Amino acid sequence: AIVTYKAGRHFLQIPGPTNVPDRVLRAMDMPTMDHRGPEFQEMAKRVLTGIRTIFQTKNPVVIYPGSGTGAWEAALVNTLSPGDLVLMYETGHFASLWKKLAERLGLRTEFIAGDWRHGADAAAIGERLKADSGHEIKAVCVVHNETSTGCVTPVGDVRKAIDAAGHPALLLVDTISSLGSVDYRHDEWGVDVTVGGSQKGLMLPPGLSFNALSDKAIAAQASAKLPRSYWAWDEMLAMNPNGFFPSTPATNLLYGLDAAIEMLHEEGLGNVFARHQRHAAATRAAVEAWGLEVLCADPAQHSGALTAVLMPDGKGADALRKVILERFDMSLGAGLSKLADKIFRIGHLGDYNDLTLIGTLGGVEMGLQVAGVAHKAGGVQAAMAVLAQSGAAEARQAA
Ligand code: PLP
Repeated sequence: AIVTYKAGRHFLQIPGPTNVPDRVLRAMDMPTMDHRGPEFQEMAKRVLTGIRTIFQTKNPVVIYPGSGTGAWEAALVNTLSPGDLVLMYETGHFASLWKKLAERLGLRTEFIAGDWRHGADAAAIGERLKADSGHEIKAVCVVHNETSTGCVTPVGDVRKAIDAAGHPALLLVDTISSLGSVDYRHDEWGVDVTVGGSQKGLMLPPGLSFNALSDKAIAAQASAKLPRSYWAWDEMLAMNPNGFFPSTPATNLLYGLDAAIEMLHEEGLGNVFARHQRHAAATRAAVEAWGLEVLCADPAQHSGALTAVLMPDGKGADALRKVILERFDMSLGAGLSKLADKIFRIGHLGDYNDLTLIGTLGGVEMGLQVAGVAHKAGGVQAAMAVLAQSGAAEARQAA
């Protein structure tokens, strides 16, 4: 088929990869430089220091050319040994994939069952650790923002539960879809390894992934016996302070990251998080006005990054997404594995403002109508009311 030009920008409203702002695109649109030369060195030092502020850590952050899955693997192979038991929590599709990866590496896993409508339950993790008096469990792994459900795990509470149980297990956290969108504090929450990716809140294309470390995680390398080479931290940690990498870094993505860190700081991380919360609240107001249901069942755990919406008849989400793509040139997230066709996911993370949200919700509301999904009109109106309201409150605060 002949591909014909579609006027206007495609709306990429899946929960990552996200829309890459022009400033990041322009920053990457440069000749590739010598990654062993002084110009690169200067830029890399700036990026390796700057990225720490985004994880809210003073510790090293290792940057890989690789997708988030690679950084999941890196977190495990640098800290654990074959046959070690890891405690994981079934928040949804991505927690399940991380568990599968751990098993393929030769780890033993224990999965605390979840209903895919809540974040991880810190109390349940604490109970399990208390029962583990022999300290057989070597690590606790949780997904901060479960991208398949739109539920956020209170990581600070998980830390408290581990401490209250007096358990020495490492805490490994996936923040792939929350970093730079939902408040995340590596140091304050005592996380040992945080796993991140470039393609969501950092507003970059896919292709970089991250491990933020703790002193305990760095020390764990000495006893960790899982085989590792590409993902090993040791050479990264040895060379990074000088602005260099053991293998060829993704030079142009790092230029983009340099710009993205600068942009997040210009806006202010607190403002970035508040912007996402406000857009999430407006999205939920739209969903409620449509008479539809948000998948995440705990209002305290609603994600600022995405909202997953249940289809009223329990099916038809894929047909709805197809209509919206064909008619309005907007991509929405699909339901994954056991949620396939049952939900659609609205991504409202990354480079995003009030009018992008209204465009997104307008596309959804028109799609519901065109696809013949039972709903009430007025979702966009309800979202606009939330935005106008909270905008006014902010203006008053500033005055
Ligand atoms: N973890 C979470 C929470 C994710 O959302 C994703 C991807 O969407 C992954 C892990 C896997 O990352 P990647 O697809 O970049 O390998």
